[in-house]
Amino acid sequence: MLPKNEICILNREIDIVRTPVKICHVAAEIAPIAKIGGLGDVVYGLARDTARRGHELAVVLPKYDILLEEDIAGLERLPGVFDVEFQSAVWSNTVWKGAVSGLQLFFIEPHHTSHYFNRGCIYGCDDDVERFLYFSKAASEFVRKELQPDVLHIHDWQTAIMAILARENSNAKILLTLHNLDYQGRCSPYELEKIGLDVAAYYNAGSMQDPVYPEALNLLLGGIRHADFVTTVSPTYAQEVQHSFLGNGLESIIKENAAKFRGILNGIDYEYWNPETDPLLPAHFGPRESSDAQKNQPTIASKGYVKRALRQHLLLEEAHRPIVGVICRLVPQKGVDLIRYAIEAVLEKGGQFVLLGSSPIPAINEEFYALKRRYGENPNVGIALQHKEVLAHLIYAGSDIFIVPSNFEPCGLTQMIALRYGTIPLVRQTGGLQDTIFDHDYGEPSPSKAQGYTFKDPTTEAFDAALTRAMSCWKHYHNVWRKIVLEGMEHDFSWKKPGEEYLKIYQGML
Ligand code: ADP
Repeated sequence: MLPKNEICILNREIDIVRTPVKICHVAAEIAPIAKIGGLGDVVYGLARDTARRGHELAVVLPKYDILLEEDIAGLERLPGVFDVEFQSAVWSNTVWKGAVSGLQLFFIEPHHTSHYFNRGCIYGCDDDVERFLYFSKAASEFVRKELQPDVLHIHDWQTAIMAILARENSNAKILLTLHNLDYQGRCSPYELEKIGLDVAAYYNAGSMQDPVYPEALNLLLGGIRHADFVTTVSPTYAQEVQHSFLGNGLESIIKENAAKFRGILNGIDYEYWNPETDPLLPAHFGPRESSDAQKNQPTIASKGYVKRALRQHLLLEEAHRPIVGVICRLVPQKGVDLIRYAIEAVLEKGGQFVLLGSSPIPAINEEFYALKRRYGENPNVGIALQHKEVLAHLIYAGSDIFIVPSNFEPCGLTQMIALRYGTIPLVRQTGGLQDTIFDHDYGEPSPSKAQGYTFKDPTTEAFDAALTRAMSCWKHYHNVWRKIVLEGMEHDFSWKKPGEEYLKIYQGML
């Protein structure tokens, strides 16, 4: 039995988690209707988890022209407009309301002559800083007038300035999540004038002046200093950004704020990413060899059917070979050199290689288009250079091995999704990859947790050694492989535990 004082602490924690909180996320992305990468998945998954626990949730986003409107229930324009002062002029804005998977969403549509969110993209415009400063200012106004949350949860540099703007006009406690320190919103100090902030008050070493480029202002830094609490997306990355170059210039500032900083491992939404029910798959499968007739649950056998469908889709030949998959933004962070190297390495070892990716960097894009042409006729290579949700599901489910050779990775979701779909991850030991995937051959931290392959050095030799081990297990030890697959699918990377940790932070701030 627990000692009395520990029971008191436990009860207090349970009470904290149960008291309903009114939470508002403001972000640039949400899956699946406006998503580029993990940010969209995290906002969707975390908000849904908190809503399921009985808390009041709203998410505020820009009204992009590329929103997948057909996937938004009850999308409607709210009556009236509200005004925002920006660059010494007053602009009106319309708000749209709708729902995705039961989540209440609000979309802000500026009537600004620069058409900030009618650009056919989420990011990548020359005036991104201006676009998201406008959005942050408008969202602060809207949240104050209409939502009045207890907690305002903002994400990345795009909404970091709300830690200052919303503080001026609301009592909400503010939590900032850092999804990737590679993107900080460095800009001219005079950008602040556009949102009516006094440049002199914030452009100084104690506030938002960038420590690496002192002539610049750093929006993320402002968020870190002014938010009530700051999280990042895995415990290892939380250490890396304080103690290595991965802090990208902000390491000492994060260290100074360590008392209000924590790494919480992201989850994935287990309803959305579920091989037993996924509506985007041609067949369903689950973590079992056989099913009792009454329950009629899908077995692992149907994964083979999805593998065939993947081959047909990418025009690969039907053969007894493992499929090695990768899905990512093609940017240096993701280890594009090793991804390129992997094509030949996989072929040499008798496998098939599939890649789904897109790049915002023209030189990388061209390079991968050249690879696509070079392997165009090869029946063992499929390269799709696009952003396509349906194909992503088919690759997660139809592959045998999934590689994530990142140079750094704040958390990474693809390795967790792959594992849930019975596809064994092979990852570099960094950031969240290190917190989630453990090497089967070494059995650490415990054999039941070790359902993947890992390598440490970002070199072709280290990658190759791990790939050889994974592919030879697939080829020569069928029963061992099957066991790894089934046990890996049973891992719990849902939002259950991280969702609880976020709730404790929300309540703790209040
Ligand atoms: P990051 O946020 O750095 O891009 P994550 O691993 O955290 O990386 O999240 C990536 C998310 O984006 C996953 O849901 C993945 O399936 C998705 N994704 C990445 N590239 C593509 C693509 N080309 N098509 C479809 N989905 C993609």
